[in-house]
Amino acid sequence: MIPIEDEENIVSFDEGFTPLLETEFNGKTVFLKQDHLFPTGSFKDRGASVLISKVKELGIDDIVEDSSGNAGCAIAAYAAKANIRCDIFVPQKSSTGKLAQIKAYGAHLRQINGDREDAANAALQAAKQEYYASHAWNPFFLHGTKTFAFEVCEQLGWEAPDTVILPVGNGTLLLGAYLGFKELLKADIIKKLPKFIAVQVEACAPLYLAFKKDLKVIPSVESKATPADGIAIAQPIRGKQILEAVRATEGLFLTVKNAEITQALEESCSQGYYIEPTAAATIAGLHKYLSQSPSDQELVTVLTGSGLKTPQKIGDMIQFK
Ligand SMILES: *Cc1c(COP(=O)(O)O)cnc(C)c1O
Repeated sequence: MIPIEDEENIVSFDEGFTPLLETEFNGKTVFLKQDHLFPTGSFKDRGASVLISKVKELGIDDIVEDSSGNAGCAIAAYAAKANIRCDIFVPQKSSTGKLAQIKAYGAHLRQINGDREDAANAALQAAKQEYYASHAWNPFFLHGTKTFAFEVCEQLGWEAPDTVILPVGNGTLLLGAYLGFKELLKADIIKKLPKFIAVQVEACAPLYLAFKKDLKVIPSVESKATPADGIAIAQPIRGKQILEAVRATEGLFLTVKNAEITQALEESCSQGYYIEPTAAATIAGLHKYLSQSPSDQELVTVLTGSGLKTPQKIGDMIQFK
């Protein structure tokens, strides 16, 4: 199911098959996929493994990528393993923990004065000369993130859950999961697609707005400050595809407020899940969805990134008792 021709080209830390833990939220059973336990600390390793394997298979040894942090960390780590040189473009204000991680893997860090879109534009320029190993554009990344769906189904006894609750910035996890569930459906391994609940932050919710108002074009929004900066993507380049995927599963979009993200972070950490603030946005979305939905569905959600990346920010956000 993974489009790498020769096994010798596989670049991997033997990652994946993260634990799917049965747990309780608001008195309802929820399966929690612990993707904060990946080698570089986020689910982006799923995509990076396949993308960098493909880069190796194509005989490319020089790549560029842009990221607010975690995708850059993942690409840098797998490039390091494959001995591929990479430039990672990041906005000036990225979290220092993630920047240190990217540099530590030996990637060339290119800090761009400006926001996330400025970093993307700088990478696009550089991509005229070098291969663009972009998690947002490059389809091979999605062929990695689709393993989320394969693992969830295998862990549930080769059945699809009723509902999955996933974050959406660029939608790499959501689109990958959609691809994966569709492939399993086509192969007659599962009988239905789960309903996709897509979580955006209120501070930057272009797809939520397009969904709610049934717009043909994704509105341009101004990204406001949020602790969940990893999903604050004002111009998701696969926006239309994401909308189509969520609609095809009869799912919906919802948004969470900054205060709800802080609350979800406190709650998650106090239960032993040390996640980064961006990951807490999905858990805030889970709470919102649970408060307005029937309780008899089998529900899967995900912890997308580790708190070990952003200790300073977590320390500032959480009110210690
Ligand atoms: C990348 C990321 C997201 C959002 O994923 P998209 O592919 O942008 O939708 C959510 N949480 C964490 C921790 C991430 O690193």
